[in-house]
Amino acid sequence: MSQFFDVIVVGGGHAGCEAAAAAARMGAKTALFTHRISTIGEMSCNPAIGGIGKGHLVREIDALDGLMGRVADRSGIQFRVLNRAKGPAVRGPRAQIDRRLYREGMQSEILNCSGLTVVEQEVFDIDVIDDAVHGILTAQGDRFGCGSLVLTAGTFMRGTIFRGDERTPAGRHGEGPTLGLSGCLERYKFRLGRLKTGTPPRLDGKTIHWESLEPQYGDSIPEPFSSMTEGISGAQVPCHITYTNTETHRIIKENLHRSAMYSGSIVGRGPRYCPSIEDKIVKFAEKERHQIFLEPEGLEDSTIYPNGVSTSLPGDVQVDFLRSMVGLENVEVLRAGYAIEYDFIDPQELKPTLETKRISGLYLAGQIIGTTGYEEAAGLGLMAGINAAAKRFGREIVLKRSDAYLGVMIDDLVTRGVTEPYRMFTSRAEFRLTLRADNADQRLTDLGADFGVVGARRLSIFKSKADDLANAISLCKNLTTSPTAATAKGISVNQDGVRRSVFDLMSYPNIEITQLAIAWSELATIEPKILEQVLIEAKYAVYLDRQKSDIESYRKEELCAIPDWVDYEALPGLSNEVRDRFCIVRPQTFAQASRIEGVTPAALGVLMAHIRKRA
Ligand code: FAD
Repeated sequence: MSQFFDVIVVGGGHAGCEAAAAAARMGAKTALFTHRISTIGEMSCNPAIGGIGKGHLVREIDALDGLMGRVADRSGIQFRVLNRAKGPAVRGPRAQIDRRLYREGMQSEILNCSGLTVVEQEVFDIDVIDDAVHGILTAQGDRFGCGSLVLTAGTFMRGTIFRGDERTPAGRHGEGPTLGLSGCLERYKFRLGRLKTGTPPRLDGKTIHWESLEPQYGDSIPEPFSSMTEGISGAQVPCHITYTNTETHRIIKENLHRSAMYSGSIVGRGPRYCPSIEDKIVKFAEKERHQIFLEPEGLEDSTIYPNGVSTSLPGDVQVDFLRSMVGLENVEVLRAGYAIEYDFIDPQELKPTLETKRISGLYLAGQIIGTTGYEEAAGLGLMAGINAAAKRFGREIVLKRSDAYLGVMIDDLVTRGVTEPYRMFTSRAEFRLTLRADNADQRLTDLGADFGVVGARRLSIFKSKADDLANAISLCKNLTTSPTAATAKGISVNQDGVRRSVFDLMSYPNIEITQLAIAWSELATIEPKILEQVLIEAKYAVYLDRQKSDIESYRKEELCAIPDWVDYEALPGLSNEVRDRFCIVRPQTFAQASRIEGVTPAALGVLMAHIRKRA
């Protein structure tokens, strides 16, 4: 064995980078193994980070001192907060990203990370002794020892690219697949399946008629992802919008039999929420047109990503249907779109720490456990990296559904498994008002600091923000007025003799913050970002209080643990379906058991009675 590391991470994608950097921040001697250093931080598909639900994940990653938010801030070329007009729970920060700047930024973070060694080798096999991980074997024949291992191989495991009737073994465009790991995991009896995803063609921006297209600009004041970023200084550019039309639909329909997805060559399921253009034309046949965003891939790169036309049709058909759209009449395709099918491991094989149940010290994260998206992968990588490093001290973090979207995602994956690539949506969280993008640091940074994954600078920025927020809320609660005095200041409230604070008045739909700011000059001392948060806390105080009590009852239910000794095979009174699901998931609490698909209150009663009897 040439060298020993506390934590080895396999893969330099979004999951791998966060896992390796988190473990190293926690003081673990860490190594990241990847095919090529030059592809660390590569964005395999769309040049964008964040969005609704996904933006929440980026803020949570940032709150735990992860890399994604800061690197996106340095490489963003158009920032927008989506759903700004809607409630604060569903607002999602998003940025168009310069692909090269992001890759270079991530590589710089990883290569300069103290305590982290980067090794450019493919990992081929895993050393396991007595059901515990001991090290890895590389394709070059070298062995390395480790205490914990985090696998984040993305779409590379037995990856196959499909376009028309062509099929090419590949992990993504221009990179070979990984073949050893799947066989190794099968040897240890892991349940593997196939999933698929797709990417659109890339266009030459110099051949697009921009003047005929509708531009879409970002926010005039870009809002960064990271609380460490003071402001966005890079140049900002617009995206443009075009539409498919009846001619586009005709070309696609007539060539459906040539699409890899429709000719039956692909068995894996794709993400329902990110359908290919073929799927859209077939499933939404009544729609006369589909919106296509033309997104720049970089400031000094004329490549355009046409968001909305992911496809596995042959290259010639791709050119034909693209040229039927306004603005694209003479477009040149730089690289044709394709679909990719790859192996994933059933996430029900994992504990909520992302450690596998079969092999101690082995953690899985990212696309290999059935998710899709950079943000989902990064969030899982971060949590796996923290737990892999914490294991040497016998510690672990399990975020609850009431703590973070990260907790919601992990619980969904390990409890319910996946039938299609899992993507984050705000609708997946039951405590949305509490899990906002703006308060991720309040929910997570202290916990991260306790685990040593949050550095000193971030902690001090967070503490000072927390103090400012507490002082601002207290100021707004201490500024009070009688109804008569309020009316004299031009603020109309019921003349009921009840004194109200400025904090109370902030929740009134008919009172604007500008009116309050004129009436109470003290409000000018509050920094705008802090004031925005005070307003949210004030406006939703009643609902937040109600949610607090729901969270308390949820946490109590989560405390009701199921002992390890329960033998579901031998448990009488369960249907075969429920027994099978219990055996696969092995829930840790009654609350988790109740979230397993198909588990009825009667089945929970049987389980409870069995445990009581034995106790
Ligand atoms: P990846 O980013 O794939 O990184 C895997 C890393 O592991 C690579 O660095 C690779 O070199 C390394 N590696 C693999 N095997 C080994 C090994 N044996 N030894 C050493 N290193 C290894 N997401 C969306 O949100 N929307 C989309 O529309 C979308 N479309 C996609 C289309 C395509 C064609 C692809 C490939 C991906 C798409 N994605 C999309 C998914 C997104 O790219 C992934 O979810 C995300 O990159 C997953 O991150 P990851 O870290 O899990 O894996």
